[in-house]
Amino acid sequence: MTLSRRSILGRTLAGLAVFGLASPTHAKMAGKSVAVIGAGMAGLAAAGALARAGADVTIYEARTRIGGRVLTSTLWPDLPCDLGASWIHGPIGNPIKKLAKAAGAATVRTRYESSAAFAGGKTVYNEIDPWEWTEVARVAAMRAPADMSLKDALIAQRVMKVKTATDIEVLAANVHLAIEHEYGGDWGSLSARYFDMGEEFAGEDVLFPEGYGALATYAAKGLTIKTGAEVTRLTPLDKGVKIEFEGGQSIRADAAIVTLPLGVLQSGRVAFDQPLARKRQAAIDTLGMGLLNKVFLRFDKELDLPAVDWFEKLDAPRKLFPEWVNLAHVLGAPALLGFNAAASADDLERASDNETASAATDALRAMFGSRFPAPIASQITRWRADPLALGSYSFHAVGAAKSARDDLAGGDWDGRVVFAGEACSADHPSTVHGAWMSGLEAAREV
Ligand SMILES: Cc1cc2nc3c(=O)[nH]c(=O)nc-3n(C[C@H](O)[C@H](O)[C@H](O)COP(=O)(O)OP(=O)(O)OC[C@H]3O[C@@H](n4cnc5c(N)ncnc54)[C@H](O)[C@@H]3O)c2cc1C
Repeated sequence: MTLSRRSILGRTLAGLAVFGLASPTHAKMAGKSVAVIGAGMAGLAAAGALARAGADVTIYEARTRIGGRVLTSTLWPDLPCDLGASWIHGPIGNPIKKLAKAAGAATVRTRYESSAAFAGGKTVYNEIDPWEWTEVARVAAMRAPADMSLKDALIAQRVMKVKTATDIEVLAANVHLAIEHEYGGDWGSLSARYFDMGEEFAGEDVLFPEGYGALATYAAKGLTIKTGAEVTRLTPLDKGVKIEFEGGQSIRADAAIVTLPLGVLQSGRVAFDQPLARKRQAAIDTLGMGLLNKVFLRFDKELDLPAVDWFEKLDAPRKLFPEWVNLAHVLGAPALLGFNAAASADDLERASDNETASAATDALRAMFGSRFPAPIASQITRWRADPLALGSYSFHAVGAAKSARDDLAGGDWDGRVVFAGEACSADHPSTVHGAWMSGLEAAREV
């Protein structure tokens, strides 16, 4: 997720340990075999907690690396680039902050207030803040007989007094920048009732100058992890569960923790040999898998830019690279990080690397003038095309029940499979800490 300018509720989870089960019973877990599917933050949290409680745990990961949607590129050795998650959103009371501390990972603060908006090559003040209207839209949707999309609710409520197609375009562009960039879903798909359900930890966001991946590496220490092991099928047995892999091999375990991304669950790439509980299947079918992509641009010299953390581009095309992190200011690096989200990010994934880097450069020139230098290198993500993610993170889509994330989380097949992962976190969806806490919760359930 990129940003959250909403008021911060801040809530600590009393009694939720960073690493372990709240009250592990070694005797109960000893000898119990647990297969954890996926070595992202949910899988690592679950496996760590169970291993410490005495279970015989193995993580099976399809990729040749761990971390999942936490991925630090070392292509530029002097500038590690986080291609997946960047920030701890709200470090106060956040278990990921504690993990970072334990791992000895340095952090750098970024502030949303430290931002500048540009139009026509000049700094401007963007007085439109769609967050002001989302509550109006939510109340209207709650009163309606059925949920509706955020788009329909905002237009029906005539926020900004929209009348013409141009008014709607301006509204759409502002919703895109403020809301679609955070949730990854199109405003025509986000649920007006529930799209921003959840809690937030307090404190200013921090990122990792040396890369988020260090936390996954730290969390994986001492765990048994089999990489290159793509699960294709799960079958319930009289006792336990059978897990089959690409290539035909299989294993048995007393229980499996499934941390597959929502996109993978929706795709049917992994077969469940017995139907899942109806509410769980409904949650899989109705929650949305959103998209946020990043483009890192590197320059051959220092950049002469305003000393702020964030840039917003209000020039047309408004939905192409509207938001940037000024890495020159944040990290002192000759680099910038641009974002695309939701439907426009899906469109851009189809462009070549050259076309994407050139669109990003055009966006910078719209903000800073035609003489802004061309980058010497770029790194571009395409999370939708990644078959082991099929998107960036989940969002609450119109049509998904209020309880969809709780419906998805937890045990099925009489506890032989337990679901975890960011999409299972009702309080902190779409985040690293949500994934981590859901992994701990699944371990507790096993
Ligand atoms: C571009 C981007 C930016 C983000 N920014 C932030 C941020 O700043 N802060 C934040 O808190 N969150 C952010 N997030 C969200 C965060 O990265 C995720 O919520 C979190 O990492 C998800 O963890 P997970 O364990 O649930 O899933 P994953 O990390 O996806 O782990 C699931 C694992 O399952 C594996 N797998 C898939 N299929 C199979 C199979 N068939 N067999 C075996 N293994 C399989 C995958 O390879 C993966 O390793 C961002 C995400 C993206 C993509």
